Amino acid sequence: MATLKINDINKNFGKTEVLKGINLDIKHGEFLVLLGPSGCGKSTLLNTIAGLETSNSGDILIDDHNVNNMEPSDRDIALVFQSYALYPAMTVRKNVTFGLEQRKTPKEKIEKALNDVSNLLQITQLLDRKPSQLSGGQRQRVAMGRALVRDPKIFLFDEPLSNLDAKLRVEMRREIKKLHQKLGTTIVYVTHDQTEAMSLGTNIAIMDHGLIQQCDTPKNIYNKPESVFVADFIGSPS
Ligand code: ADP
Ligand code: MG
Repeated sequence: MATLKINDINKNFGKTEVLKGINLDIKHGEFLVLLGPSGCGKSTLLNTIAGLETSNSGDILIDDHNVNNMEPSDRDIALVFQSYALYPAMTVRKNVTFGLEQRKTPKEKIEKALNDVSNLLQITQLLDRKPSQLSGGQRQRVAMGRALVRDPKIFLFDEPLSNLDAKLRVEMRREIKKLHQKLGTTIVYVTHDQTEAMSLGTNIAIMDHGLIQQCDTPKNIYNKPESVFVADFIGSPS
């Protein structure tokens, strides 16, 4: 189980208000897409949920526990970025298992987790390669494997496909969807791509200038936009 509540989060960088009172109530197993134009505060919100940024006010609750003062590593959250940040000198195997080894996870458990995740993501053939010997799509799979292997309660994705070409993007989108159906993990997925949002989200939160403009099912967002901004951004018929 993992629910995620975001209660009235405010965040300033200097005098700039980047998050202006964000509220979201994310249910267990929900795939929430956070959609909005560049610079509206999506990454800042994800980083605040992950604990990489500290908010000026407001609360983050995971399973109704306040995690405001919890270290990122204790939050049971995995964050996948657009830049894969794999360790270039390590093999794929090591990249995936490194985090578990650091936590002194027993060897057999690491082996099993590695096996499960490599099968799921179809990277078993790549385990002995270095990141430089992988394609963009393969690197993204490894980055996802590294997140998945920890069996986190919540997955955060920050524009994970934006560095891939169009064809691969569609393919990976399909795989992320499958993965969610299989694992049922709670996901918050950031994108500025309307098509991606529509095809992935069980719910979509439209964000602009540090505020959630509307949070609803893809169908309602498209058919019943509550503002001109939402209608324009999503391309609803007027
Ligand atoms: P998005 O992910 O939606 O493109 P960001 O959350 O990255 O937006 O950024 C929101 C706003 O906050 C932007 O105006 C950006 O310039 C500003 N910002 C982000 N990070 C910092 C930072 N560390 N210091 C100062 N300003 C920042
Ligand atoms: Mg961003």
